[in-house]
Amino acid sequence: MLDCVVVGAGLAGLSAALELVGRGKQVVVLEARERVGGRVESVLHDDQVIELGGQWLSPGNDAMLDLVQQAGLELTGPADGVLLIRSQGTVYRSEQAPDRGPSLSPFEMADLGQGVLRFRRLADRVVNDGAWALANGVWLAQPLIRWVKANLRTPAAQEAFGSVLRAAQGDGIEHPTLSQALAMNTNGTDLESLFAVSGGLQQRRVVGGLAQVGAYMAAQLGESLRLGTVVTRIEHDEHSVVVHTAGGDAFPARAVLVALPPWLGQRLEYDPPLPSWREDVVRRTSPGNVIKAMVIYSEPWWRASGLSGQMSADEGHVRVTFDVSDPDGPGVLTGFFEGIEAVTLSKRTSTLRERAFVDDLAAVFGDDAHRPHVYIDRDWAAEEFSRGCHGAHFSPGVWSVNGQLLAEPQGLVHFAGAEYAARFNGYLEGAVRSGRDEARAILRELA
Ligand SMILES: Cc1cc2nc3c(=O)[nH]c(=O)nc-3n(C[C@H](O)[C@H](O)[C@H](O)COP(=O)(O)OP(=O)(O)OC[C@H]3O[C@@H](n4cnc5c(N)ncnc54)[C@H](O)[C@@H]3O)c2cc1C
Repeated sequence: MLDCVVVGAGLAGLSAALELVGRGKQVVVLEARERVGGRVESVLHDDQVIELGGQWLSPGNDAMLDLVQQAGLELTGPADGVLLIRSQGTVYRSEQAPDRGPSLSPFEMADLGQGVLRFRRLADRVVNDGAWALANGVWLAQPLIRWVKANLRTPAAQEAFGSVLRAAQGDGIEHPTLSQALAMNTNGTDLESLFAVSGGLQQRRVVGGLAQVGAYMAAQLGESLRLGTVVTRIEHDEHSVVVHTAGGDAFPARAVLVALPPWLGQRLEYDPPLPSWREDVVRRTSPGNVIKAMVIYSEPWWRASGLSGQMSADEGHVRVTFDVSDPDGPGVLTGFFEGIEAVTLSKRTSTLRERAFVDDLAAVFGDDAHRPHVYIDRDWAAEEFSRGCHGAHFSPGVWSVNGQLLAEPQGLVHFAGAEYAARFNGYLEGAVRSGRDEARAILRELA
């Protein structure tokens, strides 16, 4: 009998499996797709690596940075140059370096600063004063937008606050609750980091693509890894589990680790069923909606005008773009359709999305954006084995009351993944940490 079956070969499943195999355990990893990496994926276009999923690492992502180093990969920073801001019909050529944040008037900047400070204090209070958080659960479950409007006075600062959250979560301030946004702030990704590029979330990426990290991990697993194997059902009792696949195979084991995002983990059939509270929590936990789009040009032409390729907008379909060209490679700009834009554009053709993307680029960077180019996008909500990204949205009250319980095992059925992480929830770093932590819990159980 196997010691453990790991379901899913995203970074969480791969990290967990390596931890278990490293301690001499018999493990099999079952992955539905014909590739590893899950929400990290690269494709090649004319020898150019295009990253369709998770891409950036930030300071504090120690587990990820360590993996990058172990795999012998190189990191590259954000492009130098000027950030452009599109706001209320005007494009501002900010002479600020790209790491200084959005261009606001001193008054608006002060407003934003005090709003961020209040938000930060509230986040600290939720962490440090559990009794207060419990007593104020209903107030914390208010829509974030209501809190933002009551605490930031200027529309520009409110918009800037929303843009940052939209870029980070795939949704603006319209949908999440205050407690959900605070949870993001306390789990390792504070708002100040989100605003920054240098020292912030979009700081570094791997030359040649982050998918190489997944490939490096998979290579160490060898034959333990089965691709193209969809798990459908898990039987479990207090002694063992049997994991069933769509192809009719059954894998008996002493434990199972479901390393899938909660909304997919819940789709598996469990016999006996998992407790009803768990079903209820997961039902009220939905994935974000993001379409990641890229255009490839023969060279990074924007650099000749001193531009970084980075823009931030409070209008249009695309609110943020980045230069993700590899050193000495062609020019590649990436950006996102997020939230309601993603939902609307997912129903349109790729040609219409391309037009929306390139027209928005042209509105900011000029007509050169219309030069001959190649457009590629990936609608993560349409992916059968992802059904959304970047991370989870918890309905009012869910995270503050039951969120952490989600990560607890149900007998021999364990759970891991970016959405279960106590820190860096929803991020690559959270996936790796969660996978390793849960593998250690399984090792203790097996001892
Ligand atoms: C467009 C995009 C941009 C992002 N940008 C960043 C970023 O810049 N920085 C950052 O830190 N994070 C980013 N993220 C988030 C990051 O990619 C994820 O948090 C992380 O990859 C999640 O890893 P995971 O292992 O928890 O889950 P997943 O990667 O979702 O892995 C789950 C695996 O399970 C498999 N699976 C699903 N169902 C079954 C089944 N029934 N049977 C067997 N296998 C199954 C899936 O195929 C998948 O391989 C981004 C995500 C996206 C999509």
